[in-house]
Amino acid sequence: MSERGLGTKCVQAGYTPGNGEPRQIPVIQSTTFKYNTSEDMGKLFDLEASGYFYTRLQNPTNDHVAAKITELEGGAAGMLTSSGQAANFFALFNICECGSHIVSSSSIYGGTFNLIDVTMRKMGIDVTFVSPDCTEEELNAAFKDNTRAVFGETIANPALTVLDIEKFARAAHAHGVPLIVDNTFPTPVGCRPIEWGADIVTHSTTKYMDGHGVAVGGAIVDSGNFDWMAHKDKFPGLTTPDESYHGITYAEKFGKGAFITKATAQLMRDFGSIQSPQNAFYLNLGLESLHVRMPRHVENGQAVAEFLEKHPKVKKVNYPGLKSDPYYETAQKYMGHGGCGVVSFELEGGRAAAELFMKNLKLAAIETHVADARTCCLNPASSTHRQMSDEQLAAAGIPAGLVRMSCGLEDSADLIADISQALDFLK
Ligand SMILES: *Cc1c(COP(=O)(O)O)cnc(C)c1O
Repeated sequence: MSERGLGTKCVQAGYTPGNGEPRQIPVIQSTTFKYNTSEDMGKLFDLEASGYFYTRLQNPTNDHVAAKITELEGGAAGMLTSSGQAANFFALFNICECGSHIVSSSSIYGGTFNLIDVTMRKMGIDVTFVSPDCTEEELNAAFKDNTRAVFGETIANPALTVLDIEKFARAAHAHGVPLIVDNTFPTPVGCRPIEWGADIVTHSTTKYMDGHGVAVGGAIVDSGNFDWMAHKDKFPGLTTPDESYHGITYAEKFGKGAFITKATAQLMRDFGSIQSPQNAFYLNLGLESLHVRMPRHVENGQAVAEFLEKHPKVKKVNYPGLKSDPYYETAQKYMGHGGCGVVSFELEGGRAAAELFMKNLKLAAIETHVADARTCCLNPASSTHRQMSDEQLAAAGIPAGLVRMSCGLEDSADLIADISQALDFLK
């Protein structure tokens, strides 16, 4: 069968009902599964047979949806997690342990930055942050003998920097470790990092994949391309026997499925963080229209960015689809457009101007959320980064007057009219 288009995969991949079976993915709202003999069940526990026994490890609804996301990313195996945070933690912790080191782009989601810089450090995992714009020389210099993974975001939330995936993949592979890319903002409709050399892709499905602000969730997709056995000493968890599973060696027994099987069998078993089947069902409804929605988000982001760029009360606009943006060329290469509907801009007049502007918006709501069908916005200085002074904000590259706007699926003319009237309140 020839490879199907992305839109067809969004609608139909991951689940093919048999004769007389439900057309829509059934929600298997069951914690447990029945077996006729202890022997049957024992085979599942030994990973000798595949099947379901307890929803903390695997559930059929989740597996159908994970299979769809895996096909969209062009991967070999995938899994759902309870959140994007859990997805990034599992992706890293599956190959890192106390004494390991990570090289990460410094331009990443605040929650992930905290996970790596604070919580994982407490677990004895070291990190070196590099600018996404660093030279290859600087990037290569960040590696240590104990480096086990490289991490970055295709389009960073909220900085909107664009990762040069090929540059990061080259450096990772030259040092015998995989590149993990969080592809939340563009989604596979805009960019498929595996095609550019990424080994593992993660998602906060809470964002565009769900797209309707309904369910928090995450996903991990493994390309199956990284040769763990070629770097046996670096990844003993995959390349030596797991005593908690009767001496199974994941990379030998599961081939391209090794990474995901280990993450399921060990991390889900020990940490939980499974997505509820009901949430996986909602996520799938979002995925069915992802290829139709994403171009509209991008179109609205582009229109709003172009309007703001010309407005006298706006100091600066960040959107990788603008020719004036420093990431324009990189975005063109990897996505062919601005990649998402999120735009950020700095108002003349700082925090007070941002607050006054946002208070007067009628369509865009103030929310700690992005990538929703409804346009929403946030002033980091008065919300997520409230504890920082104007000086600290400037040092972190987040001006006090910065507004992050996530353009939804409304008509762009209405969004622009709303923004325009709210800007009129500023002196
Ligand atoms: C939101 C987000 C996360 C965290 O996801 P949750 O689903 O909120 O846990 C991780 N990475 C990126 C890029 C995000 O935007």
